[in-house]
Amino acid sequence: MYAGDVIQGKKVIRALDVNDLEPGRKHLLYFEGVQMPTGQHWYVSVTVAKGAKPGKRGVLVSGVHGDEMSSVHTVQTVMNQLNPAEMSGTVTAVTDVSRPAMEGMQRRWPNSGRGADLVDMNREWPGNENGATAASRHAWLLFNRLLQPNADFAIDFHTGTTGFDVTAFNLGGMDVPEVKAMLDLYPVGQIFDNHVYPGVLHNAFLDVGIPAFTPEIGAARVLNLEMIKLFVEGTMNVLKHHGIVVGPMGRTGSDVRVFVGDSAFPIIAVQGGLVEHLVKLNDKVESGQKVAIQRNSFGEVVAEYTSSVAGEVTGQRSEAMAEPGNPLTFILFNKSPPGSESYPE
Ligand SMILES: [Zn+2]
Repeated sequence: MYAGDVIQGKKVIRALDVNDLEPGRKHLLYFEGVQMPTGQHWYVSVTVAKGAKPGKRGVLVSGVHGDEMSSVHTVQTVMNQLNPAEMSGTVTAVTDVSRPAMEGMQRRWPNSGRGADLVDMNREWPGNENGATAASRHAWLLFNRLLQPNADFAIDFHTGTTGFDVTAFNLGGMDVPEVKAMLDLYPVGQIFDNHVYPGVLHNAFLDVGIPAFTPEIGAARVLNLEMIKLFVEGTMNVLKHHGIVVGPMGRTGSDVRVFVGDSAFPIIAVQGGLVEHLVKLNDKVESGQKVAIQRNSFGEVVAEYTSSVAGEVTGQRSEAMAEPGNPLTFILFNKSPPGSESYPE
């Protein structure tokens, strides 16, 4: 549904049905999102690779958080590798969902409805048409008019967040067979087998019967080209698995050592001060192992942090200073019954 506007040579749409697009080519469009206080709109960038032949429809998303640049580059790289003339099916990519967050390369959507506020877009899905924030309405427009109607499966790419680095891993529910089949196709070393909380985009897709999951590609703010390669390879495998792209599978989870954990154990700062990590990302840790210490301004050790579980380090605070309540380390582990701890995806 064209709005009648053209921005920087790209046609503006208010709704998308990929069946309406000409097959065998790529289409670069702007989707008209929610309005700003000035009355102008936040537009998001939409790339559709419409295969010459019909087939499954995949949706790739990045930029739900505005500081997660490796996720954007992964989606761009996959889209640049696609040749619609040889495809059966369609891949739709949206790279900059939370536009105002991305403009400042920050995690959350700045909002001024009741004074300065910051909205985490990955707690808003599937959005609310009459929501109390523009972010909630933006989520509704995108989910209902762009993403869900064009998805037989969906992948929402993320990284760690500013101040907190993570490994390369995939986050998704292995109890959903169609999700497990996709997660197994990534040559990355960790899987966090957990649905996490409501409001996350992959759960909004799952709630309407569309298999979806969340790759996590290292640190925020930077491009980690080595990790990006792994996720591009895995995503191309997923497109082959669904018959959209032809060709031999790349490396999968069976070609690397994959640690699967169903829970993330958070180690939280109880003091203010400088943090020294004693373990690195991807390290194995034992229950009772010391993983970090903290010093006050005199250099005295004021806290020692140990893991209460055995598992692998999957996230670490990257800022040297911490105050009480800051997560310092996340340990991926298996617990029974599985839990759903907070996680800065
Ligand atoms: Zn994120």
